[in-house]
Amino acid sequence: MPRKILVTSALPYANGSIHLGHLVEYIQTDIWVRFQKMRGHDCHYVCADDTHGTPIMLRAEKEGITPEQLVERTWHEHKRDFDGFHVDFDNYYSTNTPETRHYADTIYTRLKAAGLIEVRAIEQFYDPVKEMFLPDRFIKGECPKCHAKDQYGDNCEACGAAYQPTDLIEPYSAVSGAKPVRKQSDHHFFKLSDPRCADFLKQWTADPAHVQAEAANKLGEWLDAGLSDWDISRDAPYFGFEIPGAPGKYYYVWLDAPIGYMGSFQNLCDRTGLDFNEYWKPDSETELYHFIGKDILYFHTLFWPAELAHAGFRTPTGVFCHGFLTVNGLKMSKSRGTFITAESYLNHLNPEWLRYYYAAKLNGSMEDIDLNLEDFAARVNSDLVGKYVNIASRCAGFISKRFGGKLGAVDMNACAEFSSAFAEGAIAASYEERDFGRALREIMRLADVANQYIAERKPWEMAKQEGREAELHEVCSTALTLFRDLTLYLKPVLPKLAEQVEVFLNIAPLAWNDIWSPLPAGHVINDYQHLMTRIDPKKIETMVEENKQSLAPTPEVAAPAPIKHAQHQQNEAKAETAASPWEPFISIDDFTKVDLRIARIAHAEHVEGADKLLKLTLDLGTETRTVFAGIKSAYAPETLVGRLTVMVANLAPRKMKFGMSEGMVCAASDERGGPFLLSPDSGAQPGMRIK
Ligand SMILES: [Zn+2]
Repeated sequence: MPRKILVTSALPYANGSIHLGHLVEYIQTDIWVRFQKMRGHDCHYVCADDTHGTPIMLRAEKEGITPEQLVERTWHEHKRDFDGFHVDFDNYYSTNTPETRHYADTIYTRLKAAGLIEVRAIEQFYDPVKEMFLPDRFIKGECPKCHAKDQYGDNCEACGAAYQPTDLIEPYSAVSGAKPVRKQSDHHFFKLSDPRCADFLKQWTADPAHVQAEAANKLGEWLDAGLSDWDISRDAPYFGFEIPGAPGKYYYVWLDAPIGYMGSFQNLCDRTGLDFNEYWKPDSETELYHFIGKDILYFHTLFWPAELAHAGFRTPTGVFCHGFLTVNGLKMSKSRGTFITAESYLNHLNPEWLRYYYAAKLNGSMEDIDLNLEDFAARVNSDLVGKYVNIASRCAGFISKRFGGKLGAVDMNACAEFSSAFAEGAIAASYEERDFGRALREIMRLADVANQYIAERKPWEMAKQEGREAELHEVCSTALTLFRDLTLYLKPVLPKLAEQVEVFLNIAPLAWNDIWSPLPAGHVINDYQHLMTRIDPKKIETMVEENKQSLAPTPEVAAPAPIKHAQHQQNEAKAETAASPWEPFISIDDFTKVDLRIARIAHAEHVEGADKLLKLTLDLGTETRTVFAGIKSAYAPETLVGRLTVMVANLAPRKMKFGMSEGMVCAASDERGGPFLLSPDSGAQPGMRIK
C-alpha cells in the first residue's frame, strides 16, 4: 500500500538570499522526498516564503516599494535558487496568501474558544519618531555587562551576555536613532503554560517516533523547567494579518509562518484535487513530517504540536532536526568568502556536486555538518567521476561501435552482489532513516564491485582479440546494467544526472524496484555523452573570491534563518550565519558628528589591576587627553610613545574604574587578529581633523 506523506522544510524569510547554510535542509528534505516517490509512495513536499514582519516592512520602505512587491521579488529569487539545486517542491508558496490567513484565523479562533488565548498588557520599547514598537533586533545600546557600544537588544556580540532590551544602557532605535520610550500595549498570548498543553506535550514528546533521541533530552529539560506563554501578537504598523476582533493587532511569526505549511498544502489541494482534510484531520492516517534546523526545535516540537492539538488538527508524525553548516570547520564568514550564496555557487559549480557532498555528510542526527572545500572536490572527483561515471564511460563505446548500440545478454552471477544488497534493504533503510552517508557508503562499495568486475575482465583487451566478441558484449552489457542499478540508487541524490542516464540508456524514469529486471538483450541504447566532469579546484577558489568581493555594504537588516525572524523568547541559538556584517547607511551629517583627530601618543603606561587596558596621554596639539585603551594584549607601552594615531575626540567622557577616559583611539580587529592601531601617512600633525 502506498503511504500518504506530507513533508515540509522550514520557510525561508523573504528578506535575504538563499545560501549554502539554508541548502543543507532543502537538499536533505528533497533527497528524502525523491526517495519516497521512487518507492511509489504518495509524497507531497510543500514550502513557502515566510513573508511577514517588521524587517520586511522596513526594508520595503527603505527601497521605496510595497512589502507585497518586495516579497514577490524575493519569491522569484528563492524559487530560482531552489530550482537551480533541483529542490523539487510540489508547491512553493507564500504566507501572504488567503489560504494561510484562513488557517491562522481558524487556529486562533479555536484556541481562543478553548480558553488558550490570553490578552495581557506588556511594556516594550517604542520608537516615538517612527511611532512603532521595536523588535529586539532594532534596539541597540551599550552592553550592561562589558559596556561595548552598539549592541543588539537581546545579546552582546562582544562578551556574549544575554539580556533584555530594557537592560541596555543608553538604548536607541536602530530605525530612527531616537531614544526609545517604554510604552504599554496589549499583547495576545498562547497559554503554553496551561496544564492541558504541558500534559499533552509530555506524552507527545515521549514517543520516540516524534522526535530524535538527542532532541528528546533537550525537550525534557525544557518541559521540566516549565513552559511559558508565547506572545503571538504585534502592534501596527506591521506587515501581516490583522487578528480578527483585535484592530491594530497582528499575528506574530508563531501564529502565521508555520501555518504557511497548511496554506501551501491547501493551495496544492486546490490545484490537484488532493483532500486537505484527509491529511490534517485529528485522526488522519497520513504521515506529516517537518524538516527543521536545531534553532527552531523548541518551536516545532512544543509550541506547534500544542497549537495544532488544541485547534482540532492532527499533530506531526515526526520532526526531523538537523545541525548547522560550517565551512572549512568554521562558521560561515563573509570576510573569508565562505558565506556563499546559492546564486554564486551556481555560477561556478554543478549543484549535484553539493547535493552529493551534503548527502555523504548527513546522518540523520542533529550534529553540525562541515563543508570542507578541499575534501568536497576530492570526494566528488573520486566517488562520482572516478568510480561511478567511469563505469559507463569505459564500456558504452564498445556497445555503440561494435554492436550497433544493442545490448547483449547479462551475466546474472555478476549482478548477484547487487541483488543481495538490494534484498537486504540496507540502502533503502538508510535513506528512510535519513542516514544518507551510510546509504552512499554502501552504494560506493557496490561501485567498487562493478569496477572490479570490469578490471578483472578487461574489455579493452577483449576488443583487440579475435573471437571474443560475445564475451565483450556480455561484459559491457553487464557493466551497463550495474551502472543502471547504481544510478537508481543515486537518483534521489543526483536527479539530473539520473535523467541524463535514462536518456543515454533509453529507459523509462527509474523506479526503486526496477533493480529486479536487468536491461534486456537486444535493447538499444543511445551514444554515450559525457555525464559529469571533475571539480576544478580553481573554480572553488574563484567562487570564494567572488563571495569576498561581493561584500557591498548594503543597508541590509538582519536576515534570520528560516522561521525565526525576531525570535527572542527562545534565545538558544542565533542566526549568526545570516546577519549582515555591515552597519546601515548613515548620512554625511551623521559622519561629521564624529570628530576624528590625529593624536600623538605622548605617554603610555600600564594600569594597576587592569588586564586589558593601557593608559594613554594623547597630544592633540592644543590640548592633551587621557584615554584608557584596550590594547594591552598587542602593544607594550614603551613602543607606543611618540607615534601618531587616530582618536575620536568628541566621545563623551566616561568614568571608568581607573579614572576618566576622554575619548577613544581607533584600532582594527576581528577573528583574524588585532587590535591594530591606525596610523596616518607622514606629514599629518596632531590635532588635524579626519574627514
Ligand atoms: Zn557585552
